[in-house]
Amino acid sequence: MDRTREVDVVVVGAGQAGLSAAHHLRRAGFAPDRGFVVFDHSPGPGGAWQFRWPTLTYGKLHGMHALPGMKLTGADPARPSSEVIPEYFAAYERAFDLRVRRPVDVRAVLDGPGGRLRVETSEGTWTARALINATGTWERPFWPRYPGQETFRGRQLHTAQYTGPEEFAGRRVVVVGGGASGTQHLLEIAPYAAATTWVTRHPPVFREEPFDENARRAAVALVEERVRRGLPPRSVVSVTGLPLTDAVRRGLKDGVLDRWPMFERITPDGVRWADGRHVTADVILWATGFRAVLAHLAPLGLREPGGGIRMDGTRAVADPRIHLVGYGPSASTVGANRAGRAAVREIRRLLAGEEPAVAA
Ligand SMILES: Cc1cc2nc3c(=O)[nH]c(=O)nc-3n(C[C@H](O)[C@H](O)[C@H](O)COP(=O)(O)OP(=O)(O)OC[C@H]3O[C@@H](n4cnc5c(N)ncnc54)[C@H](O)[C@@H]3O)c2cc1C
Repeated sequence: MDRTREVDVVVVGAGQAGLSAAHHLRRAGFAPDRGFVVFDHSPGPGGAWQFRWPTLTYGKLHGMHALPGMKLTGADPARPSSEVIPEYFAAYERAFDLRVRRPVDVRAVLDGPGGRLRVETSEGTWTARALINATGTWERPFWPRYPGQETFRGRQLHTAQYTGPEEFAGRRVVVVGGGASGTQHLLEIAPYAAATTWVTRHPPVFREEPFDENARRAAVALVEERVRRGLPPRSVVSVTGLPLTDAVRRGLKDGVLDRWPMFERITPDGVRWADGRHVTADVILWATGFRAVLAHLAPLGLREPGGGIRMDGTRAVADPRIHLVGYGPSASTVGANRAGRAAVREIRRLLAGEEPAVAA
């Protein structure tokens, strides 16, 4: 029962990035189970989408790209993304026979014998010649710290725990964070809440014009530059600005999206600014983003003093056997698709004993 199994490539995570990678492995001739194996510790297909709140309908997503080789057609925009996308991913896994193993938790990746990687999972040990990490960010919500936070008598929650607006009926809610989640929370909660206050570190930048390919490339290049230097990535969305949808326009007109600068401290019954202003609150909702889920790679010692993993494309500079997809510049559905393909191309070269192509 305790035997170690061997495979060429292990993929960790079966969200958009992991399924794209698995698809390209399959196309490149790696056989499921023998050539590659995909592990995911969530209960069902869908990656992080299976956990997102029910009011995040399919129609509210921005630029959700289909996985390579199979379109997502005919989905009702009024249905929750947490149903539409898991159904689509399940169909995709079946159509391409990807044989995702779940729930299997990858606990640690270590250097193994003979130049192989040793992958310790909840279902035993595997060794591999290369590993594609596609573990996303959902499971590592980022909570900033502010003075007095522990004294707050109300409720604090993060976007990762948000389940919809009804539970805020009659409450005074402070929403922290200038990203897409923060604005969506406010627009949903405001009709139910007694009061809402929006607080962000930087003034939000609203984007009038559609986000075209050139703008997308420029945004990705900014994040790419950071991970090339071994710095922790910023989210791509943080550099793209917020789209001015009709709902956002209404929110700006109605004052729901009036933004306050960051408060200085949290009090037992609210938040206080340096100039003495105070807002009483029952709830603080932290829409402050997520960080990459990478703890299982810690034994490989890939982290730089700057706190990130130095990358060249999808390849970890310190260990060419490791590729990160859906990380930093590829943390979007379109980026994850492309990263999956790029990682497989490089891994084929690595396994064939060729040098990686030097990035331009
Ligand atoms: C609220 C919200 C809305 C978004 N909307 C959009 C949008 O409209 N368009 C867009 O392009 N992007 C959007 N994004 C970003 C989007 O989620 C990502 O681009 C993409 O879906 C992430 O895919 P992924 O495969 O990298 O990660 P995930 O979907 O998070 O998948 C990671 C998988 O790895 C598994 N896993 C993690 N650790 C382990 C482990 N140790 N062992 C085994 N399995 C593990 C998890 O179970 C999970 O299934 C949104 C993000 C958020 C938070």
